Amino acid sequence: MPKVLDGKFIRDQILAELRPRVERVRAAAGRPPGLAVVLVGNDPASEIYVRNKVKTCEELGIFSEKITPAATSTTEEILALVAALSERDEIDGILVQSPLPRQIDERRILLAIPPAKDVDGFHPFSVGQLVSNSPGPRACTPSGVMEMLRRYEIPVSGKKAVVIGRSDIVGKPMALLLLHANATVTICHSRTSNLDVECRQADILVAALGRPGFVRGNFVKTGAVVVDVGINRLASRAEAEALFGGHEAKLAEFDRKGSLVVGDVHPLEMDHASAVTPVPGGVGPLTIAMLMSNTVALAELRLQ
Ligand code: NAD
Repeated sequence: MPKVLDGKFIRDQILAELRPRVERVRAAAGRPPGLAVVLVGNDPASEIYVRNKVKTCEELGIFSEKITPAATSTTEEILALVAALSERDEIDGILVQSPLPRQIDERRILLAIPPAKDVDGFHPFSVGQLVSNSPGPRACTPSGVMEMLRRYEIPVSGKKAVVIGRSDIVGKPMALLLLHANATVTICHSRTSNLDVECRQADILVAALGRPGFVRGNFVKTGAVVVDVGINRLASRAEAEALFGGHEAKLAEFDRKGSLVVGDVHPLEMDHASAVTPVPGGVGPLTIAMLMSNTVALAELRLQ
């Protein structure tokens, strides 16, 4: 059976290491590190993410401010909000939660966040720093995956890594971080031919495509490390049956909860992998831990 890589355990390690750094910032600056979280509208999933981010800030002693403009806000209004936050000394990181309502120009908002406060690492300047392997905030989910691999002492250098997904927030930065760690990296996406053949080459397979249980056992080489970034909710029994038909325990879990959260990897077909990340409880908890880490790092930089 594969080793299960426990994201909560790693998250707790990361947060414990941040605590003294938060205190050092507080002592030196006379205030704790500060994070502003802008949540436009009422997307239910975003509300949960933002609540967890604010809660983790509180646990760590990081100052957080949640700002909730109406779903009808205009691009100009959000730009004005970001400009005001940029001026405030006690705010070290500005996060604008996506997705944004359709009428808002996400690109312009992203560009308006000063790189010195770009806690998500999505600004083109931060992306350039990532590409050139220069210091700067890194996208939280992929850097969480790297922390997971590092802390479980999973070798990356010289290994063949395959990333499924090429989004700006997960797939591309993930591939670059693996490359900088000296993996030989292949990026697969929705137009890749023979995806299963590509994936079977992987010593480390990272799935970030947003399709529940898409990565089946035949995508995975014996002994591979499988990292599942996906978070998908199965809301209908038909979906649960399509994925877990014949697995009574999973279907019973669906019936009990009324839905199931599953990753992009089929959780019941990974027995031949050497290590897997569970969903939930794998990569997810690390994303917030890395957001906290980026906030503290930006505060430290601004102190210098
Ligand atoms: P996205 O929709 O922006 O990108 C998906 C990518 O997958 C695209 O590049 C697309 O080319 C590729 N893809 C789609 N269908 C494919 C197919 N059939 N075969 C091969 N490639 C395919 O999604 P995203 O924002 O990168 O997120 C990916 C997944 O990760 C989602 O499930 C999301 O919920 C999850 N996610 C988790 C965290 C976390 O904290 N764990 C953070 C961000 C995203």
